[in-house]
Amino acid sequence: MLQSYNGWPASKDPEEIGIKNYPVPGTNRKLRCAEAVAPLLIGFASEFHALIEPIDEGGLDDWGYAFRMVRGSTDRLSCHSSGTAIDLNATKHPLAAVGTFPADKVPMIRALAKKYGLTWGGDYRNRKDEMHFEVSINAEKAAKRILKLSKGLTD
Ligand SMILES: [Zn+2]
Repeated sequence: MLQSYNGWPASKDPEEIGIKNYPVPGTNRKLRCAEAVAPLLIGFASEFHALIEPIDEGGLDDWGYAFRMVRGSTDRLSCHSSGTAIDLNATKHPLAAVGTFPADKVPMIRALAKKYGLTWGGDYRNRKDEMHFEVSINAEKAAKRILKLSKGLTD
């Protein structure tokens, strides 16, 4: 089985890895992601919409599953390939651009990402990807985190 670089199973066939299309609560948008991590990515997207900036204005620029390499790479499968990453408001936060969010929102972006077990592409060491959020915990930890969140606990 192929894996994206965060260790989650990746496939060209979305059914094989349990990809489904999930509505983001509070918005008219849907995101395709893996069932095993959907509560993390969708919960995050919903809070991002409420607390950081709306995701359902303007064009359709919010994405989940897509089988592809990391842009610019020939052998590293993007976390979008496993349905464990989302891009939000891509047109406002283009790849490689830095400082696309107001500075006063950044601590909340980081806090929300941490709450849901995600890494923010704005914290990548090399090329920044501020639209991008990916699951950075394994399946066991993700299941535990989802259970905790479902009980209203955060840490
Ligand atoms: Zn992305």
